[in-house]
Amino acid sequence: MRLLLVEDDAMIGETVLQVLRSEHYAVDWVRDGRMADEALRTEQYDLVLLDLGLPKRDGLEVLRALRARRNTTPVMVATARDAVGDRIAGLDAGADDYVVKPYDTDELLARIRALIRRSAGRAEPAFEHKGVSLNPATREASLNGQPVSLSAREWAVLEPLLARPGVVLSRAQLEEKLFSWKDEVSSNAVEVYIHGVRKKLGNDIIQTVRGLGYLVPKQ
Ligand code: CA
Repeated sequence: MRLLLVEDDAMIGETVLQVLRSEHYAVDWVRDGRMADEALRTEQYDLVLLDLGLPKRDGLEVLRALRARRNTTPVMVATARDAVGDRIAGLDAGADDYVVKPYDTDELLARIRALIRRSAGRAEPAFEHKGVSLNPATREASLNGQPVSLSAREWAVLEPLLARPGVVLSRAQLEEKLFSWKDEVSSNAVEVYIHGVRKKLGNDIIQTVRGLGYLVPKQ
């Protein structure tokens, strides 16, 4: 999963970045509203954590512009604990949820998981398909009830495919889920992790669609 972190405070940003990366999200961090706008116009994110008080362009403006482009990327606004007005303005401008600062790390992560889950149209916390189960909250994977140990990056390629069986994701789309701007990506990285998933969960779990990408078959 790839997240955009919009935060102008260096200390808060650094802390949140570490927390999100330790949960294996690919994270891009921008520190002002204009950069946020640019990132949202050029990249596809699974979620945006958006501070509202930003230099160059206000967070609310960034959000309104995003929704005016009919972009439905899930957005969580970050506000101060006592700023009820900001939360209301954020929700009314198209935010899907909010979180208050200073962050409680566990709450932040739980809200991020819940919002990603809802945006994928799921009510259940775990993905279940064809005997394979992934629980993003506990990071436990299993095959027919037997625990399976996946590496962080094996997990990262399987999760978006398993979230939408029958939908093809290209190698470039999977790379975006795996890596942020700063990462060096070797040309066969996605293949390597898919190979790892197949070794652990069986060859049929991820199908190669020649010339297009990969999918988890519906049936
Ligand atoms: Ca700020």
